[in-house]
Amino acid sequence: MNSSLLMKSAANLKKALPLMMKYKVPTTPVNYALWYTYVSDELPELNEQLNDLMANNDICPPIQAESLYRDFVASKTDSETLELRTSIDKMLIQLDKSLIDTHKDTNTFQKAFEKTFDDINSVEQEGLSVEEVIGLVKKLQGDSKNMHRSTAFFSKSLENAKGEIASLKAQLEKSQKLALYDSLTGLLNRHAFDTELSAYLEKNNQGLCLVLADIDHFKNFNDQWGHLLGDQVLKAVGRKLNDSMRNGASAYRFGGEEFAILIPKSKLRIARHFAESIRKVIEKLTLKDKRTGEKINNVTISLGVVEFQQGDSLHNFITRADEFLYEAKRLGRNRVLPIL
Ligand code: GH3
Ligand code: MG
Ligand code: MG
Repeated sequence: MNSSLLMKSAANLKKALPLMMKYKVPTTPVNYALWYTYVSDELPELNEQLNDLMANNDICPPIQAESLYRDFVASKTDSETLELRTSIDKMLIQLDKSLIDTHKDTNTFQKAFEKTFDDINSVEQEGLSVEEVIGLVKKLQGDSKNMHRSTAFFSKSLENAKGEIASLKAQLEKSQKLALYDSLTGLLNRHAFDTELSAYLEKNNQGLCLVLADIDHFKNFNDQWGHLLGDQVLKAVGRKLNDSMRNGASAYRFGGEEFAILIPKSKLRIARHFAESIRKVIEKLTLKDKRTGEKINNVTISLGVVEFQQGDSLHNFITRADEFLYEAKRLGRNRVLPIL
């Protein structure tokens, strides 16, 4: 590794870590790689989106951060390679330092050895006493012990570095195994929803709004059109939801034909308005049955909206939204509740 690259990675580290501290970003391998890339200024679009994410949130939402990591960092290089590259950069800075230290020590020992060997040479010439010869041998022993210690220290640094890289790699593999996305709709899945909501509720929940949406009479739809076409509807609804997200809102597949939207730093009235616009988008959705060519334009959803209230538990928060959703169904479907 050349020294300019070493200096650059050290400089990036110095910039990334304080930023991560400032925004209270957990120092996971994914976040580390994300913020490291951010300060490197190599991907303007990533910087724009991460700035946007931080502007719309009081915390760094773990799922959206991971999603950015996957879209920008992991896709640009092989995710593991980048992860390793950044950790190796870090390790190399440390290793480089101990290498310099060891090198300094080596020079000192070299001189000590040379001096002792000179002394030994002079044994023959000057006829030193037995005691003096033993003294010189002892000194040589001591020098070589020090040398050994220093080398051992260096190999321990190497060993530690290897260990740290292996554990980062294992952590990364583990986090990648946890799928974030639902394979049918491409939306973030229920697990991602639970993680993101927990993170929001742990740190800040002021103005956090939740929308629960459920496709109307979907069982009938499947019965009439078949399960495969039902899947196409789920896909299309998922895409429309995703395309409608703005101002930090994120959409999830909550269950079978149910969806959730989290809107940070908002208000019930604004969230309700947003839910209403989504209801209209879905109402306008049209699909074609490829086998028969028949047009399908009667897909609707019902929605329940809540704003986080002091004292809400995670369970309570979701249940309140679910109750409004149920109310919307009861009142005839294809509507948003509460009515404000
Ligand atoms: P409501 O308006 O009250 O919500 O009526 P509904 O028929 O939509 O509600 P219900 O809960 O009775 O049925 C939900 C249906 O959603 C049943 C199930 O077959 C369908 N469903 C759930 N997941 C999937 C899926 O992945 N693909 C398809 N095609 N259908 C699904
Ligand atoms: Mg349902
Ligand atoms: Mg339904």
